[in-house]
Amino acid sequence: MSILEVIIGLEVHAQMNTKTKMFCGCDNDAFGKAPNTTVCPICMGHPGTLPVPNKEAIAKALRSSLAIGCTIPPDCHFDRKHYFYPDLPAGFQISQYDFPLSKAGSVEYDLADSSGKVTGTRVCRITRLHMENDAGKLTHRYGKTLCDYNRAGTPLMEIVTEPDLRSSEEAVAFAQELRRILISVGSSEADMFKGMMRFDASISLREKGTEKLNPRSEIKNLNSFKSLEKALQYEEKRLRDLWDEAGGPLPHDITVGWMDDEEKTRLLRTKETADDYRYFPEPDIPPLHFDAAAVETIRLSLPPLPRDEKKKVLTLGLTDAEAQQLNDSALLRSLFDAVYGKTKDAKRASSIVITQLQGFLHAHEKTLEEGPGTEDLVSLIEAIDAGTISGNKAKEVLETMVETGKKPSAIISEGGMQQISDSGAIEALVVKAIAANPKAIESYRNGKTAALGAIVGWVMKETRGQAQPEKVQEILLRRIG
Ligand code: ZN
Ligand code: MN
Repeated sequence: MSILEVIIGLEVHAQMNTKTKMFCGCDNDAFGKAPNTTVCPICMGHPGTLPVPNKEAIAKALRSSLAIGCTIPPDCHFDRKHYFYPDLPAGFQISQYDFPLSKAGSVEYDLADSSGKVTGTRVCRITRLHMENDAGKLTHRYGKTLCDYNRAGTPLMEIVTEPDLRSSEEAVAFAQELRRILISVGSSEADMFKGMMRFDASISLREKGTEKLNPRSEIKNLNSFKSLEKALQYEEKRLRDLWDEAGGPLPHDITVGWMDDEEKTRLLRTKETADDYRYFPEPDIPPLHFDAAAVETIRLSLPPLPRDEKKKVLTLGLTDAEAQQLNDSALLRSLFDAVYGKTKDAKRASSIVITQLQGFLHAHEKTLEEGPGTEDLVSLIEAIDAGTISGNKAKEVLETMVETGKKPSAIISEGGMQQISDSGAIEALVVKAIAANPKAIESYRNGKTAALGAIVGWVMKETRGQAQPEKVQEILLRRIG
């Protein structure tokens, strides 16, 4: 029996975070707004209206194209893609067909195990990136269908990959890297919960060693990395079973839908071809031209790629998983940078920001946005480094900061948490400790140095952790040493 290999390609739709929609002046931020309140005759496709391309959207699509290594041809234009569906008021989508905005890029991404440790690096080639407008949203409820056109006309980037992905893990890792890139160039919020990034995945099988691509199954409606992964795993198994039964691949392309609740795919249709959409050049929008110098200017304005930023963080001595977390959240990164700037100690900054802060936020069911800001974290570090509080007390202070939103200075003084570093006070405590622990003193004098720890511990307990341990030890040694 021959060994089968999985061939996967993705089409990714990402909403651009522009102020207005793709071809009209309507507010592009419709999230949470009452249905059909951010619409106008243009995005509702009324006859006699004229679409005007959004310059901000074009600029952001260009930035994204360059960040994924695509080439920008000097000319492109929009096309009408026709199909009937109630979420598409004009009866066609304005998209790009044979002359897309950009072509032939590639994205490098890491594969990691469940602990976040990087296990390999892959490259997925990008076929194209084109611009188009989104459709409205349909809600099926109580046997009725409700139409909300707020999303109709939202600017989308459609990014199509070559069939370079060889497993569901690779598909997810690639999609996550692409998301990071789009966020880093500022073209999309790519908020998965708000449906700002959606996937269609094509999957087929072939005998390893052969080159020909077999008919594929295109899975629609994947709105999360989890469903992308599960749908691909499900469909791979189904295609393998079919191969075993029929002794070969699918006879022709099919389109299936992923049912999130049932965790299975369902046949929607045998795939339509480009002819079925009756593409033709959009007559109401002139072609776009880009000169090479303008494209170069945009390229120079791009931030470093997220992977390069991650590599930089790794050189500080953090683990892959820590570096990836900083890579995935700009806010976490800025908190880390502030603490690292103060401490110049990456391990310590990571322990405070990545481990402790995030742990407390999780325990108190708060988001990073609801937690303490950079200023408060830096004051906490200053309090530790000045000896005002001990490292142990600092954890308590941090948790209270997360819980109450109070400033560290207020928490420390209200809680009477200041460390006892006054020599006179510690001297008195040490005298008391010596008197109370004759056995430990004796064993110390008999050469058991570990006994010293027990005496220091007694002082720490007595002061509920507020004595400065180094100072206690120093005075103790002077008295009994
Ligand atoms: Zn509009
Ligand atoms: Mn599309």
